[in-house]
Amino acid sequence: MASGYVTRFGYRRVWRPGTRQLVMEHVLVWERHRGPVPPGMELHHVNGDKLDNRIENLRLVSRLEHKRLHGGCELRDGQWWKPCRRCGTFRPVPQGYYLKPDGSVSPTCRPCSIRLAVEYKRKRKAGKAERQAAGA
Ligand SMILES: [Zn+2]
Ligand SMILES: [Zn+2]
Repeated sequence: MASGYVTRFGYRRVWRPGTRQLVMEHVLVWERHRGPVPPGMELHHVNGDKLDNRIENLRLVSRLEHKRLHGGCELRDGQWWKPCRRCGTFRPVPQGYYLKPDGSVSPTCRPCSIRLAVEYKRKRKAGKAERQAAGA
């Protein structure tokens, strides 16, 4: 399984045995143990190492779940959790965050997002007042 090459996304690609078809090595490993990957499902590398293609390191996840996992979320007992990028507090998803239309989660929690928006507005206002004062 050492043949093939690593894609620019960090995954190893190999020839499907007996064919001239290139496939992701982790997909091949999954197929060998569990059968084909169902449509709409993806494989996630549990320890984050995309070249660690042992079956124990692969998990079948939905596209949304996969996006959340890579967005820093963790699934515990059926509930999603994510640490806020600003304050570091773990908060439940989606309750503690804002969801974007594509299902991804805001990087900062609700309280931080609100605080940031207020700060941003205040700064803009202050900047405007300064410019007006300078121009007058
Ligand atoms: Zn993944
Ligand atoms: Zn926060």
